[in-house]
Formats: sequence, structure tokens, C-alpha cells
Amino acid sequence: MNEFDCDLLVIGLGPTGDILSILARMQGLTVTAIDREPAPYPLPRAAVFDHEIMRIFQMAGVADRIEPLCRVPDRYQFLTATGEVLLDFPISPEGPYGWAETYALHQPAVEQALRARLAELDVDVRLSTTLAGLRQDANGVTVETTGPSGPQTIRARFVVGCDGAWSSVREALGVGLSDYAFDEPWLVLDTIIEEPGDLPIVCQQICDPARPVTHLAMSGNRFRWEFMLKPGEIPAEMVEDSRIRELLEPWHCADRVMIERKAVYRFHGLVADRWRVGRVFIAGDAAHQMPPFAGQGMCSGIRDAANLAWKLALAARSDAPADMLDSYQTEREPHVRSIIETAIAMGRVVCLLNEQAATARNEQMLARKAAGEQDVSVQYPPLKGGLLLETAAAGALFPQPIAGRRFDELLGLSGALVGRELPALDDLPLVRLDLDSPALRPFAAEIDSWLAEHGASAVLIRPDRHVFGVGPPALLLQQWNSRLRLREAA
Ligand SMILES: Cc1cc2nc3c(=O)[nH]c(=O)nc-3n(C[C@H](O)[C@H](O)[C@H](O)COP(=O)(O)OP(=O)(O)OC[C@H]3O[C@@H](n4cnc5c(N)ncnc54)[C@H](O)[C@@H]3O)c2cc1C
Repeated sequence: MNEFDCDLLVIGLGPTGDILSILARMQGLTVTAIDREPAPYPLPRAAVFDHEIMRIFQMAGVADRIEPLCRVPDRYQFLTATGEVLLDFPISPEGPYGWAETYALHQPAVEQALRARLAELDVDVRLSTTLAGLRQDANGVTVETTGPSGPQTIRARFVVGCDGAWSSVREALGVGLSDYAFDEPWLVLDTIIEEPGDLPIVCQQICDPARPVTHLAMSGNRFRWEFMLKPGEIPAEMVEDSRIRELLEPWHCADRVMIERKAVYRFHGLVADRWRVGRVFIAGDAAHQMPPFAGQGMCSGIRDAANLAWKLALAARSDAPADMLDSYQTEREPHVRSIIETAIAMGRVVCLLNEQAATARNEQMLARKAAGEQDVSVQYPPLKGGLLLETAAAGALFPQPIAGRRFDELLGLSGALVGRELPALDDLPLVRLDLDSPALRPFAAEIDSWLAEHGASAVLIRPDRHVFGVGPPALLLQQWNSRLRLREAA
């Protein structure tokens, strides 16, 4: 008799828990997901997400539903108090990964679409249900919950805490946080403006030492402003209507705004010390938090989910080697840290209140811009260590060419061996994509040129679309099998 109620129990259904539940279910796991609230958090938080996340939405079968809810902004700018452009990140509507580089969103609408997908996939979702306790042994995890039908016990092979910044799972595991010592209070104002008039439809950081401000045109008629609090300012006073009217004065819209949310947040950078203890993991805000200047908090949680889902699916089906599951933190933590450091560096540019220091910053940045020395391509590093070979391109995202349809449609939820004269794959969870086959021919020129650039005859792409390695196909296959110990498990 099966001792488990489910293969995977997900605790917390924000965007991280939603995507993890969807992908794990699509990988064939039985999934139970609990959330202490009766519905998704109704107020906006994330304002933008990037191409990699839309590609994960594609994998989860929801990109077609989410894309119409979003808007592609055309740039992200850092301005001086007088409107000079210090930094200008153009946003391409056609990136190399099959989607626009950035999308502006309304997080509650996206979360509703993800919840609808959970229902379609028959994930066992239990709302208004809170974690009450957990204990684990060598084979699984026993979780106590409280909910509408009273206390319940759920036995799962694996548990992932996607329960946000104040994670009870992290606390239950006794895992601490390391702190980047960046801690800035900002007033976040979310508004709906039915007649935006000449309000700029852009994402801007206004680096005014008198008061740093973020202005974001989100999707539809939603606009966000974030105002940095100055030393001595009291949060309760900053959210008063009269104060908000004063702050919005430069935008000439105070009489037209419908305020959806006003709250003072502390922007900080935190990373959990351990992301896995035995069969229990943490992901998303439970594992890391960052200031929003790079627009990457939700994105990072969704990347965690995509990294973990296929590994948990393999582990549930086989006797996976411990390093396979340890590779989750090995791969994800340095990536997240690099993003947090970028976000904090952006924050340090923005959050200068000293007039002289701000003038020096402006002069320096304008001089670099004039000399063409600014790097405005936002590139996060490839994954390193973990379940990767030491070859060119390992850990990078494989591009997603479009030739009538998007390349990933050929992969589904699997990884893929791509090249020519490929060996048979038996029943391994990989698809074999021969560049000479009719299905691949439309993509062949672009993939051939990628292979030539990396001096390789074939590439093995993991299910999360990161490159495992490049090289001769038989060698890639042999390494993949041995790293995942697939043959022994079969
Ligand atoms: C002002 C602001 C701006 C932001 N801008 C961006 C941006 O532009 N781009 C971006 O990518 N990110 C942005 N973020 C960050 C983003 O919103 C978060 O990183 C994201 O929501 C985290 O998702 P999560 O699923 O990990 O956690 P959450 O969304 O916090 O979800 C956690 C879930 O767990 C549930 N839960 C908690 N405890 C329990 C328990 N004990 N039992 C059961 N359920 C529980 C909660 O009810 C909740 O549903 C921003 C955040 C803020 C505040």
C-alpha cells in the first residue's frame, strides 16, 4: 500500500508555489498544495517580469493566457532630478528566447491565471489551510495542517515551502538568513487612472536627492509610484491622503487617481542559509528577498520552481543521488545572489540623498554614457556547478528560435538531445531531436549556427531549458545518465 497521500506537498500558493505545483503535476507527480488564505493576494506587487519567466509560463501551458494580461514596456530609465537620462535600458519586443525581454503585469491577474491552470490539472488545492507542523524521516515528510475541515495530516515524499518572506517552513527547519545590510523604507502607491492623459508610459527611476521616486506604468490603467522615505519621516504620516496628494503633484494627476494600495515597505536583500534540509525545501521569497529595483523577486522564485520541479519528479521516480537534489541550491543561490547584488547596486544609484554625492554620481554616469562606456544589457550569469558538464555554454539558457512555432513546443516537459546522427534514447526522459528530421528542419540553420559558435556537434538541454553540456552526442548521453543515475534506477 502507498504510504503517501501525494508525491509533493507545496506549502504556499503565491507565484512560486503555483508554478512549482503546475510543473510538478505536468511531470506526473501527485501534488497537494495548501495556502492559508482563501484566495490569491489581491493587491499588486511585482510590476515586471522577464522573458525567461514567460518561457516558463509557456512550459506551464499558460503563456497564451498571461500574455494578453501584460504590456511590453519600451524602456527602463534612470533620470536626474531635471530629467537628464543617466541610464537607458531599451527593451526588445523580440528577445533571443522566444519572448519580449520584459513584460509589465498585474500580479493578482497572473496569479488567477495560474490558479485556473492548477484546477485544470487536478492539483489537490486546499485553501484557508495553514501549516501547523512537520516532521521528516528517511522516506518522507508528515505535515500537520489546520483548515476548514479541522486538523489534517498529509504524508508526502517531498515538501516545498513557498510560503513567502515570513516562511513558517524555513522557521520549522531552523534555517537562518544572511543579510546584505541594505535596508531602505519606501512608500509604495498603487493606483488606477482611467484617463492617464500625458502620464509617461515608462518605467523610470527618478534619482532626485530631494526625494528618489520610482514611476511605473504597469499593465492596463495601473500606475505605481514609489517614494523613498527620508530620515525621520514617519510611515503613518506618509500614507495620509494630504501627503500623497503633495507627493503626486509633479504628475498632475492627484485628482484622477484611484488609490488601490498605499503601504511603506522596507526594501532589503536576504538569502536563506540552507534551501534543502532532507526532503524539505524552500523556494521563492522563503529562500531569498531583494529590493525591487531590478524587478526580479517573483522572477527568481519562478526560476527556483522550474529548477526544482523536474529534479523532484526524477527523484520521486528513482533513487536519485543526493547531489541531484543538492544541485538546487548549488545552482540557484549564486544566480539569486548575483541578481540581489545587481538590484542593490541599482538601489545605491537611486537612493542617494546627499546633494553633492548625487551631483558627482550624475557627472560620472553622464560622462560614461557620453563615452559609450555604459553596459545596458541586463545579463544574469549562467548556472554553475550542480548538474552541469564542464563544457562551453553549460548552464546557459538554450535559445528559443521561432520558425512558425516556438522551438520549446518540440520539448514539452522533457529535456532534449539535439544534433545529428543521435544514438537511440531508450525510454529516458529526454526527447531526441535530429536536425535532419522534418520537424527540426525549420530550426536547423539557427541551431547549427549556435552549435558552430560553441564548437559542438550536439547539445543536451535540461527540462528547465538550461544547457547541460555540448559535445559528441554519445558522451552527452552517457554523462547525463551517470549524473542522474538513470540506468541504475531503470
Ligand atoms: C512593492 C513590490 C514590488 C515588487 N516588484 C517586483 C517586480 O517588479 N518583479 C518581480 O519579479 N518581483 C517583484 N516583487 C516581488 C514579488 O512580489 C515577490 O517576490 C513574489 O510575490 C514572491 O512570490 P512567492 O510565491 O515566493 O511568495 P508570496 O507571493 O509571498 O506567496 C506566499 C504564499 O504563502 C502563503 N502562506 C504563508 N504562510 C503560510 C502558511 N504557514 N501556511 C500556508 N500558506 C502560507 C501566503 O498566503 C501566500 O499565498 C515586488 C514586491 C513588492 C512588495
